Order: sequence, then C-alpha cells, then structure tokens
Amino acid sequence: MTDDADDDATRKMQFLFALRSKGVTDRRVLSAMERIDRGAFIKGLFAARAYEDMPLPIACGQTISQPSVVGLMTQALNVTARDKVLEVGTGSGYQAAILSLLARRVYTVDRHKRLVREAREVFAAIDLANITAFTADGSFGLPDQAPFDRILVTAAAEDPPGPLLAQLKIGGIMVLPVGQSDAVQSLIRVTRTEDGFEYDELRPVRFVPLVEGLGRDT
Ligand code: SAH
Repeated sequence: MTDDADDDATRKMQFLFALRSKGVTDRRVLSAMERIDRGAFIKGLFAARAYEDMPLPIACGQTISQPSVVGLMTQALNVTARDKVLEVGTGSGYQAAILSLLARRVYTVDRHKRLVREAREVFAAIDLANITAFTADGSFGLPDQAPFDRILVTAAAEDPPGPLLAQLKIGGIMVLPVGQSDAVQSLIRVTRTEDGFEYDELRPVRFVPLVEGLGRDT
C-alpha cells in the first residue's frame, strides 16, 4: 500500500471507531457510512477535517451535521429497502446520500437553491441515482410525493410541523430535533399508528433552526 492509501485506511478505521463508540451499532448504517465519503460533501479548507466527528460549516451559513449524530438519527429512523424517505434540510447532501443506500427512494428538500444545486452535483458524481433534491420550504413537506414511510428533519422546529405529521404513512416513523433554536434541543422519534402518534425522546442535540420560506439566494 502507498502511504496515502495507508492514511486513508487509518482515517476510515478511526471514523468508524468513533461512530461505534458514540452508539452507532446498526451494521447497515455503519456500512453505508463506510461507503459514502464525507469528504465529497465538504468544500474548501474544512475538507481536511471531514473524518473528524464534528459538525462543519458549509455554504449559506449552514452546517453539515456531526457524523455520529447522522448515524444515530439514521439508526433511529429504522429505514428498510422498500422505503420512500423524505429528508427536510439537504444541506451538503451527506445525510441524503447515507439514506439513499438504505432506502428505495429519497426525496430531499432545502430552502437554499445553491445547496440543492451543489448536492445534486455530488449525487451525480458518485452515481446516487435514487435521490431527488428540490428547493422548497420543507415545513410543508412534499405533498406531490406524499405519503412517506420515513421522514427525517435535520433542522430544529419548536414542534413537529403539522404537514409533515400528515404526510407520514400509518406505521411510518419521523425523526426530528425539536426545541428553541438557541437552546439545547431534543431529538424525538414520532411513530404513526392506526390511532394517532407516539413520541419518544431520544437525546439532546443542537441543530440550525427550521426557517420559513425560501433562502435569499433563490
Ligand atoms: N442534512 C444536512 C445538514 C442540514 S443543516 C447534511 O447532511 O449536510 C440544516 C439545513 O436545513 C440547512 O441547509 C437549511 O438551509 C435547511 N432548512 C432550514 N429550514 C428549512 C426549511 N423550512 N425547508 C427546507 N430546508 C430548511
């Protein structure tokens, strides 16, 4: 092996070790995270830190989530190979890419047109053909494609948005951070049953806020 390949292998091992030590134990999630190169979703100076377990800045003042949080959220969503998934908050596209290896089809939306355009370019470059990215205010979901088996929201709302609850299939699961944007938020899992919704609180997290309307770059 060359020194570079050696370094890559060591970095990947450390990356997976950090995920496991933070509680990401689902083998399908770990293997998806091993296959998708986080470095492909981060541009500029911060690309060198892509394999560290930390959130990093991306364009439009947003952040790519910490890998262990991506892993824990994906694990909590319990995605199956038949699922149609909606992600609200495309950001860099990294989370959507992980979901695309586990699900049948992924729809992802962001209020910033630039982020959607750049994420689409990465999806094409690494041949992820089952993701469709749109510029939209995701708090209204994606009525044309609803209902969804799974919904993942990667920006924090004060409460689960009504349209997203309405677009979840019976038996479906939604994972999202809720709480005030400037405080610690809770990651919750909502399961839709025949009779209504069940809520589990998973862990404290910190996300950028879910903001109404489209970004000003559109
Ligand atoms: N999942 C991303 C990280 C998301 S950061 C990744 O893997 O990189 C949160 C994203 O939510 C930001 O890009 C922000 O623009 C987006 N966002 C915030 N409010 C939104 C809304 N109402 N509709 C759609 N996207 C929104």
